[in-house]
Amino acid sequence: MKHIAILGSTGSIGTQTLDIVREQKDIRVWALTAGKNIRLLERQIREFRPKLAAVWEEADAAQLRANVRDLPVQIVSGMDGLLAAAVIPESEILVTAVVGMIGLRPTVAAIRAKKTIALANKETLVTAGHLIMPLTKEYGVSILPVDSEHSAIFQSLNGETGNKIHKILLTASGGPFRGKTRAELEHMQVEDALKHPNWSMGRKITIDSATMVNKGLEVMEAKWLFGTQLDQIQVVVQPQSVIHSMVEYEDGSIMAQLGTPDMRLPIQYALYYPKRKPLSGQRLDFFALGSISFEKPDLQTFGGLRLAYEAAGRGGNMPVIFNAANERAVARFLDKKIKFLEITQIINECMIHCAYIEHPNLDEILETEQAVYEWIESRW
Ligand code: NDP
Repeated sequence: MKHIAILGSTGSIGTQTLDIVREQKDIRVWALTAGKNIRLLERQIREFRPKLAAVWEEADAAQLRANVRDLPVQIVSGMDGLLAAAVIPESEILVTAVVGMIGLRPTVAAIRAKKTIALANKETLVTAGHLIMPLTKEYGVSILPVDSEHSAIFQSLNGETGNKIHKILLTASGGPFRGKTRAELEHMQVEDALKHPNWSMGRKITIDSATMVNKGLEVMEAKWLFGTQLDQIQVVVQPQSVIHSMVEYEDGSIMAQLGTPDMRLPIQYALYYPKRKPLSGQRLDFFALGSISFEKPDLQTFGGLRLAYEAAGRGGNMPVIFNAANERAVARFLDKKIKFLEITQIINECMIHCAYIEHPNLDEILETEQAVYEWIESRW
């Protein structure tokens, strides 16, 4: 039996995690959390019977409490609610599937409570990798990647302990705007950016795929997760999203993980690691696929990826500035307040103007996030 808690159970990763719980029958869910979607959370509570559930606003919590008063579930709210879910004693694995830096404090708390972390939330390592990775060592805790690329790298490292990595080949689909020019991108609307060719994901990450900022965040995440240098991580565009990433060893041998674009696979792998279990769904059919192709990423058109390498190279709180600026800019783009290309323009300007801190602690990371938000508020 596996015992888990899920932060962000109403989102894309959260609901797919619950699909696995439904399919496997040997996973007990102890805590569920959502932002605002209390209707879906109520359905999840009724189906999975957690001991604790959390939402962000106390008003939503009060409503939910009233709705589920027939069940023995504790409903909590705010950061205290997320923290309570993260450290709930009965759970052994925390699936962190919230979007944004809100995932940071609960993840730190869960590590201190010696929970295994099934990590989907990219922002955790992007913004605080220098704090999180030493903490996992100190508490003897494993971080198991849920992101498909990082899961692929993780799987490609199996059985290679002690062997030197030459480089990581991080694959990218190129998103819905692959091959487009900057002039064409000028006119792209929210609806165009939300049409990802291969993956079905949350809205924010889908926009991040269109700007290729997502790949930039993944580069930063990979650097921390696998302890490599930045120049050892090469982004390779592989439009069919069949090769989920690769590792090249010093003898030139390359190990890859392939499969259909289905997030349930990396989620399940993280939940059962090192065991593999049967999983329903389509299988990769090489004959139907015909061919797999590769391209270099276009760093001029997709400036977000270039800026991500720059932010990662400068380190300190620069990845926090990059991430917070992107988060706010994407929200504005989704609200149709700015144009598509302004997303990277805002990131660039924040990286130039927001205060740099070389070794930020957790408070300084969260203060940087606020400072970036305020700077954007005052300018756009
Ligand atoms: P979604 O937007 O689909 O879901 C986000 C979840 O976070 C929802 O449950 C949402 O609740 C919750 N949430 C949002 N704001 C708050 C808040 N203030 N307090 C508490 N909970 C909150 O995101 P995804 O599932 O797409 O992505 C989650 C994370 O996983 C991201 O970091 C993303 O980069 C990463 N990831 C996602 C992949 C994917 O395929 N989707 C692939 C790899 C990584 P509600 O909806 O109730 O408001």
